[in-house]
Amino acid sequence: MRRIWWSFLLVLGMVLLAPTTVHATQDDGTILVLNSYHQGFSWTDEEMKGILQEIDESGLELEIFIEYLDWKKFPTDWNLQGFRDLIEQKYYNSNLDIILCTDDSAFTFARENRDELFKGVPIVFCGVDGLDYEELSSNQDNYTGVMQIMNPYGTIQAAKAIDPDLQTIYVVYDNTGSGQAIGELCARSAKQVSANLEVVLLNDLGTDVIYDTVSKAKEHSIVLMTNYVLSDNWTYMSQERFCEQVAMRSAVPVYHLYQFGLGHGMLGGDLILGSIQGEKAASQAIRILRGEGANQIPILNEDTNQMMFDFTTMQKFGLSRDELPENSVVINSPIDFFQMYKGQIISAIVVFILLLAFTISLLFYIRKIRSMQKTLKENHEELTALYEEITASEEEMRAQYEEIIDAHELLEISNHKLVQLTEHDTLTGLYNRYYLYEVIDNLLRESQDPGALYFLDLDNFKYVNDTLGHSVGDILLQNLSTRMNGILEAEIHLVRLGGDEFVFFYPSVSDKILIENFAKKILAIFEEPFLIEENNLIISASVGIAISPQNGNTMELLLKNADMAMYYIKNKGKNGYYFFDDSLDLMMWERVSIERKFKKAMEENEFYVVYQPQICPVSGEVEGFEALLRWRSDGVLIPPLKFIQIAEENGFIIQLGEWVLRQACKDIVKLNKERNTNYRISVNVSVIQLLQSDFVQTVLGVVQETGLSPEQLILEVTESVFMESAEYIAEQLKRLRNEKIGIALDDFGTGYSSLAYLKDFPITIIKVDKIFIDSILGTQSIHNITDTIINLGHELHLKVVAEGVEEKEQVSFLLNSQCDLIQGFFYAKPMVMEDLVKWLGYPMK
Ligand code: C2E
Ligand code: CA
Ligand code: CA
Repeated sequence: MRRIWWSFLLVLGMVLLAPTTVHATQDDGTILVLNSYHQGFSWTDEEMKGILQEIDESGLELEIFIEYLDWKKFPTDWNLQGFRDLIEQKYYNSNLDIILCTDDSAFTFARENRDELFKGVPIVFCGVDGLDYEELSSNQDNYTGVMQIMNPYGTIQAAKAIDPDLQTIYVVYDNTGSGQAIGELCARSAKQVSANLEVVLLNDLGTDVIYDTVSKAKEHSIVLMTNYVLSDNWTYMSQERFCEQVAMRSAVPVYHLYQFGLGHGMLGGDLILGSIQGEKAASQAIRILRGEGANQIPILNEDTNQMMFDFTTMQKFGLSRDELPENSVVINSPIDFFQMYKGQIISAIVVFILLLAFTISLLFYIRKIRSMQKTLKENHEELTALYEEITASEEEMRAQYEEIIDAHELLEISNHKLVQLTEHDTLTGLYNRYYLYEVIDNLLRESQDPGALYFLDLDNFKYVNDTLGHSVGDILLQNLSTRMNGILEAEIHLVRLGGDEFVFFYPSVSDKILIENFAKKILAIFEEPFLIEENNLIISASVGIAISPQNGNTMELLLKNADMAMYYIKNKGKNGYYFFDDSLDLMMWERVSIERKFKKAMEENEFYVVYQPQICPVSGEVEGFEALLRWRSDGVLIPPLKFIQIAEENGFIIQLGEWVLRQACKDIVKLNKERNTNYRISVNVSVIQLLQSDFVQTVLGVVQETGLSPEQLILEVTESVFMESAEYIAEQLKRLRNEKIGIALDDFGTGYSSLAYLKDFPITIIKVDKIFIDSILGTQSIHNITDTIINLGHELHLKVVAEGVEEKEQVSFLLNSQCDLIQGFFYAKPMVMEDLVKWLGYPMK
């Protein structure tokens, strides 16, 4: 649709802008038009009009000269002579190509003067009626043209058709040659139309007479105007004005023979058209100019007339179009106007319609454009709003982005801190367990290199914490860390596993001497005591060593094995290092299985107490018993030496020890009651128990609860109490001693038998270890030591008990040395209460 409109606009523009005629670019010839009559004479003007129009339509570019002989007004010799002189003067040197003549006089003049004035150029004529056609065409001498054929017959016949009762025809003509010829022709023609027609010849009359006659003309008459150029007094008459005057006065319709009468009051007739004469002649002239010979073009001798009527005059006489002959042309009517300008009007209408359609569509498009503009505006506003929103959110996003960056930085800082935290121990700043398992483990797996892992555990650190407080313990660990850091060689890693456990990892080392040297270096740390808050702490450590890859190629395995080795050395007596070997594995397995069994053992009463008598060698009487713990696990007896230490290490000894104490007290109270005796009971107490802050209270509670008199209870402690928090333990023991509870120093002579300690501890009994008792049977020198120990005890006012006495000789020796009590298989093995009662030899009450 839109494309159609654009092409329409394009065509319209081309139509409006294009030139109406295409002019030739060169001079196509020179033509001289010679008119018989004058300019302003309608007939001549019509002929000129036809000529010029034809030439214009031909597209030839001609130079046109026009001359008027003025023969109507001046049909005289002097005019002719003057005209000839004028033409000669004007055109003598002109290169005329053709002479075009209108009407007879000009043609005659041209023919007569052609050779002299016009160099014999061809002549074309029109409007010639006074010369004989036959004669002209029989001797065509370089000329051709168009004959003017008058047809008064047609006009009269038309008048008769319009008014069938037509009776009289007034024929008006002048006295010129042509005027008379036509007048006579009209009279003949009228008779040919109808013999009854009366013809009144208005010839050689003054205009007043003519006016008077026509004004009195009767009904069924017509006036027929012909040539009336000269009036009766030979003065020239304007044909048009004369027609108007006649028509104005005439009572009846006035007909004419020439077209020019129309529009000047004439009704019409079968009219000669000057313009057609001019056109036909001009077309012949053009043919000659284009190369045809004048003689080859025949002279046109046809009726070129047209039946024409004037609508205005028709109305005056009440005539309708239907009354006119067929093929009549009506001028001056609105319809005629339409027909005349039919093409233009249709074009105008088409153009108008197109313009209208164009305008409508333009309006439509304008409306559409407006609505689009509106939509655009709305969209623009929306977009602007959106843009603002986007800008705002962009700012928000930028702010958020900055926040994120800040948060990211914070995150990185915290991440760094976290790494620090996750990889480092807060107390000492050393690497931690995480680092060991993540970083060193990776190192171990990736490198496949050999390496040594040292598992270090402080000996009895727990006691430091328990007695001096955790803050001292913490400071100790920090000081220790500093010392440990001080011995680190290049690639060795140090990690605090937790509590008092540390790990050194020595990578890329396989030489056992190097490994051992570093172990020694570690232990050397502990040679100097630690001075913390005025406490001079002597600390030792046990170090287990596992070597990669022999003892494991993962951190977990290495650590487990080094741990085992560490336990082993701790069991062996602490303060040393030990290399892992496969036999340790079995030992540790046992240990672990024991630990696991403890809980169940307590619940299922697998523990029981046996009693071993202590006898006075002098009297042979039973003084008391030592309570010894037994454990039958799934029918298998597990020796105390195998599980007591484990129970000590994991703290199980605390509840187990309390259980033994209670059981023994109960049993002995019962026994004493039953037998009415005062047997004493000795109960073994672990250092771990002694370190418990509520230990004294627990013992006193059990004593009270069982009803045992305190002086019948003896607690056996080992020499290790001198090592572990000596002052604290001494204090505890003093409190018990104050309650009359006896304290025996067990295994005397095996450990740190520093006699100096004896003064500080409230010991009441010393138990001479089996080693010394056994030695009685050997060399003399050790005899003396045993003797010395007994004497020493006595000097300190302590009771001396000999343990593990199996032989008679030992008893004799001890008797001799005045040992107070003897305990051993020689007298009795430890027995369950039932057996003890039997052994005691008399029945219970
Ligand atoms: P101990 O306190 O030195 O106990 C004496 C050990 O020597 C006992 O071993 C006893 O059966 C044994 N014995 C006594 N006379 C002889 C003898 O003539 N020849 C030989 N070869 N051995 C003799 P037992 O019962 O195996 O206890 C071993 C250790 O376990 C005890 O050594 C003691 O340290 C510990 N123990 C036993 N019961 C308890 C307990 O209830 N609490 C604590 N803390 N330790 C206990
Ligand atoms: Ca004992
Ligand atoms: Ca002992």
